[in-house]
Amino acid sequence: MAEIVIKNVAKRFGSFTALHSIDLTISDQEFMVLLGASGCGKTTLLRIIAGLETPSEGEVWIGGRRVDHLPPRDRGIAMVFQNYAVFPHLTVFENIAFGLRMKKLPQAEVERRVTRTAELMHIEQLLKRYSGQLSGGQRQRVAVARALAMEPDVILMDEPLSNLDALLRLEMRAELKGVLANSKTTTIYVTHDQVEAMSLADRISVMNGGKIVQAATPVEVYRNPAARFVGSFIGNPPMNFLPAARVASGQWRVADIDLPGPAASGALEFAIRPEDVEIAPEGFRAIARVIEPLGAHTLVTTEVDGKLFRAVLDSDLKVAPGDELRLRPKPDRIRWFDPETTMAV
Ligand code: ATP
Repeated sequence: MAEIVIKNVAKRFGSFTALHSIDLTISDQEFMVLLGASGCGKTTLLRIIAGLETPSEGEVWIGGRRVDHLPPRDRGIAMVFQNYAVFPHLTVFENIAFGLRMKKLPQAEVERRVTRTAELMHIEQLLKRYSGQLSGGQRQRVAVARALAMEPDVILMDEPLSNLDALLRLEMRAELKGVLANSKTTTIYVTHDQVEAMSLADRISVMNGGKIVQAATPVEVYRNPAARFVGSFIGNPPMNFLPAARVASGQWRVADIDLPGPAASGALEFAIRPEDVEIAPEGFRAIARVIEPLGAHTLVTTEVDGKLFRAVLDSDLKVAPGDELRLRPKPDRIRWFDPETTMAV
């Protein structure tokens, strides 16, 4: 059992606070992705869990044991990094065996584990090759195999696919998902790539400015962003936002139409994803500005009351720049945010 509990973890570098009291529980065997823009603190959090960085405050627990005072090798974890850290002067076999030799496992056990994980990662034909002669994708497989061979309770990965080209990334992503789903490890995976996050995660922790803004399933962060930031960070193109003015209790004016909404006072922000609008006469007025046919759909960038608004529409739609459209937001997909707190209402 390797549940990971992060309690009130903060990290300061001098006067700069990289992490503000983080609380997060990752269940045994869960695949948790830490997602956020560059500098949001995801690598720092991962390094604190690994023991490569000490927290300024707070506790880290793995499998019911407090580990924040333990060195990395005593935490029951294996790591895979962006640069792989594969030793070029060792064979693939010896690279995968590296951690097992450090643990002084008997030769028969080393051979069993190296062979098994090499098969899992489809590199059994490379075992005698020197790692310096491998392609980027092959080195990546060796790095993952080396981590798996340790049979760790926890695997930590920091942007492991970021050095691969697009096609290989896609292939490795699917393979990683398959391999880790069949293992009993708890995984924490750092990325700034939202598609990677959505495809791999059981849950995603969306980070911004050293805080976790939302930790939820991929569908949940996409459908029900807890904060404006999540809606604008997840989804491509991102969520649209328009100001909403109260006309009566639970009635809001958005552009030139009235919509039912929460019974809040003050102003709100109306939000809808570009794929959740359709052309209909009762919709609000939008002037088409840029039309981008994308094959399956057409992305139309419009102007609504002087604000940018994107719509993903049927590719059969005939539309030209300057055309007036009527866009109807699908009622069950509308979300509302408080413009002051930026949190969902
Ligand atoms: P990236 O995707 O670019 O790796 P990240 O979200 O992983 O970004 P971190 O590497 O965790 O971000 O860094 C978080 C913040 O802490 C950044 O502003 C970074 O400059 C700062 N930081 C990280 N390590 C140190 C350090 N050793 N000394 C001072 N500041 C640091």
